[in-house]
Amino acid sequence: MRDFSRVKRIVVKVGTNLLSSEEGIDRKRVEDICHQIAELKGMGFQVILVTSGAIGLGAKELGHRNKVVHIPMRQACAAIGQPILMSHYRDAFRKEGILTAQVLLTRNDMNNRKTYNNLRASVATLLSMGVVPIFNENDVVSTAEIGSAFGDNDRMSAMVASKMDAGLLVLLTDIDGLYTGNPKKDPDAHLVTEVDEIDDEVLSWAKGAGSTFSTGGMKTKVLAARIASMASCATVIASGYKEGVLAAIARGEEVGTWFHPHAALTQRQRWIINNSHQGAVVVDEGALEALKKKRSLLPSGVIGVQGVFDEGDVIKVLGPDGTTFGKAVTGFDSTAISRMMGRHSDEVDTLFGVDHGDWCIFRPEDLVVGDETTL
Ligand code: GLU
Repeated sequence: MRDFSRVKRIVVKVGTNLLSSEEGIDRKRVEDICHQIAELKGMGFQVILVTSGAIGLGAKELGHRNKVVHIPMRQACAAIGQPILMSHYRDAFRKEGILTAQVLLTRNDMNNRKTYNNLRASVATLLSMGVVPIFNENDVVSTAEIGSAFGDNDRMSAMVASKMDAGLLVLLTDIDGLYTGNPKKDPDAHLVTEVDEIDDEVLSWAKGAGSTFSTGGMKTKVLAARIASMASCATVIASGYKEGVLAAIARGEEVGTWFHPHAALTQRQRWIINNSHQGAVVVDEGALEALKKKRSLLPSGVIGVQGVFDEGDVIKVLGPDGTTFGKAVTGFDSTAISRMMGRHSDEVDTLFGVDHGDWCIFRPEDLVVGDETTL
């Protein structure tokens, strides 16, 4: 039984496909989404909207017919399309008596603790005034965020949901939810209504599929649900074409695919997960075992250092075969770790001429364990 009655904040993500029409934007769809968000607000929820569509709209404005792949051109399209997108939302929300605000984000804004705190405070202020903040990626400045596997708005919406403590993330798309196969080709494929654990089987159902102008597919949506679930936030993937879909979801009706929330990680752990890593340390089997038992990482267990990073940066922790084991906040920079790696702490004392005693590279509370898809 879905029960979202204790949810206060909902993040709604709208994809490019849903908004697109022959002429550029489907005004009716935008109006309908804004009307539905007004309904959610009427039910007492605070709503954050994450919208794609800037690149597609900009491309159409420039007369491009096919997917734009050249990154500077995608950025140019985003710069042209974003104000068009906002003007449609502004008009549609105005009809509902709702003010809107534009929030353009790069991943760095989330990574940096100070900008992240500023963001939280300003968005909380907007929400407390009844404004609907409308988020999109700041594609004009963030190249990694457009067209790359890490840069779709599905992922961004999950990070926003996680960082803004939302209880529910709704990913509106052009199909009913997650199917066990391709319903157009496979007669046995059926809609999955509920997912508890996002395991390999669930991921295998969600083969990546995109359309001309959008970035994500079902896979990015399922991965987004995983990010949200780690922040104790439920996710529903549903069709934006279904009438009154948002209110139906919020009432707990069985619409689309519902992904259960899981135990919340601490703010610090979420910050570590959502922070892009600056480099990596490779550790040996012994160290991996120690880390699994929640012990600190000592220099003797490090067998390699990758990249250049500072003390306090987030780094990846790789096993001896290079597979991702976790992400951690490092207590030393890459140069220091390169010097101390493989040595016992008393040797490191001699090397650095300091009787430090405890040369742990990071403590257990500064490590979040996970794999390539979750970190
Ligand atoms: N930020 C991109 C845009 O507004 C969309 C990225 C995505 O499709 O996920 O066009």
